[in-house]
Amino acid sequence: MSQTLQTEIQKEVDKRRTFAIISHPDAGKTTLTEKLLLFGGAIRLAGTVKARKASRHATSDWMEIEKQRGISVTSSVMQFDYNGHRVNILDTPGHQDFSEDTYRTLTAADSAVMLIDVAKGVEAQTIKLFQVCRKRGIPIFTFINKLDREGKNPFDLMEELEQVLGIRSVPMNWPIGMGRDLCGVYDRMKKQVELFQGDDHTTIQVRPVEDYNDNVIREMAGEFLHDQLVQDLELLDVAGDPFDFDKVRAGELTPVFFGSAVNNFGVQTFLENFLQLAPKPTPRNSLDGPVEPTSDKFSGYVFKIQANMNPAHRDRIAFLRICSGRFERGMSVRHVRAGKEIKLSQPQQFLAQDRDIVDVAYPGDIIGLFDPGIFRIGDSLAQGGNIVFDELPTFPPEIFAKVTVKNALKHKQYQKGLDQLTEEGTIQVFHSIGSIEETILGVVGQLQFEVFEHRMRAEYGVEIQLQRMSFQAARWIVDEQIDPGKFRINSTLVKDKKGNYVALFENEYAMRTAMEKNPTAKFLETQP
Ligand code: GDP
Repeated sequence: MSQTLQTEIQKEVDKRRTFAIISHPDAGKTTLTEKLLLFGGAIRLAGTVKARKASRHATSDWMEIEKQRGISVTSSVMQFDYNGHRVNILDTPGHQDFSEDTYRTLTAADSAVMLIDVAKGVEAQTIKLFQVCRKRGIPIFTFINKLDREGKNPFDLMEELEQVLGIRSVPMNWPIGMGRDLCGVYDRMKKQVELFQGDDHTTIQVRPVEDYNDNVIREMAGEFLHDQLVQDLELLDVAGDPFDFDKVRAGELTPVFFGSAVNNFGVQTFLENFLQLAPKPTPRNSLDGPVEPTSDKFSGYVFKIQANMNPAHRDRIAFLRICSGRFERGMSVRHVRAGKEIKLSQPQQFLAQDRDIVDVAYPGDIIGLFDPGIFRIGDSLAQGGNIVFDELPTFPPEIFAKVTVKNALKHKQYQKGLDQLTEEGTIQVFHSIGSIEETILGVVGQLQFEVFEHRMRAEYGVEIQLQRMSFQAARWIVDEQIDPGKFRINSTLVKDKKGNYVALFENEYAMRTAMEKNPTAKFLETQP
């Protein structure tokens, strides 16, 4: 390979940081994203993140559901430059627009920022997203938000991270007061104080200090808060975990930052520390071993397909995470599953709602490819080779419904739609194994049902009926001698589209009972 290309790719990889923000609704993800974009000089976008959420009339031609709800159905990507870094933030939709795409998007990130509301602590959706990150071995950084409000004691929050998520934490900074008394944070690594001042809570001063005993802090914060700070930090120095980069990378330790997104307090130092510590694009695993980002051959995989952004054309956008090499508009690459060369002529990058055409892109970047229906989730594209990246995991659905077609004459189209939409990863499909043939759909978010219904109608002309079932959990069952009779109480046994056995449970208790009754069986959260 040419030396210049090698150097160019290396340089671009080194400066990239691709991450997702994971949080429970209302923790402040939109606000934090906006502030980060502002620092990156992408001021044009600062309002759009919010607008997308609030407005009932989306500015672009996204699919109907999106317009009706004024939300983004599937996650997109925001890119900006800061301090020599190229930052890609992957948006992970929450609320009602939570779906399997939210999980799949995490597979495209190299790290995650876990955003926590200081008063609420670790919440349900955060737990789910955290677990996906942990399984993928993605390093997690924590930002504890809304410090301007009365919240939990920072030590209690650290304890909560450990108890609920099983992760140790290392505070990178520490609050000086909280809520109405908040007057700043002490940066433990840089040995400086960031002071939060003024009635409007916006004036921010950064002062270097000797250490946390420095009189400067005492003068600014007063005796009471300073004594408290000294006491807390002495305890942390003695009893807290030291910062250990290897442990962060291994997902065993999370660096914790305190701040207030809406007041823009602690956000900039968080961003700077984060960019320094967060990993650059990491190798992705393939059938032939890890693919190094700095390889001169372009490769990537599709982690999400977004349908019907333009209803007039019924086109789809396949989101591709670039894993290695250099992407150029118009280049020819191998569509490995299809076994043919294709030309990537209209790649799009996503800046909030604007879609820009990209000419070049590098590992860590996400590009949107025009998809006339040739891509599936997990497809690999590679230059001059047959790289097959590891299959994307499926996630255990939590909401289930029986599906039937309203007009029996449409059965053929129905079957076609069902097959295609399952392949695209819109929903998961299961079949009953008794004498009555039933088709059951499984999703992780209600929105997936709505998208499925909409697309069946809009693209296949089929009206379907969904009947919600009472199951709330699914596990793939691996057992030599499976006995459906053992899955009858508040549960049922079905098969997935590959013929694997899957048990559906009405509650945790039913699942535990089944596990006890079937000691030889393995209960897996993903497909075997
Ligand atoms: P999301 O649902 O996680 O995207 O949350 P938003 O960014 O929409 O924020 C939810 C609410 O919390 C909004 O009313 C924000 O103004 C508010 N909020 C965000 N950050 C802070 C903060 O640092 N302090 C306080 N007091 N409120 C905040």
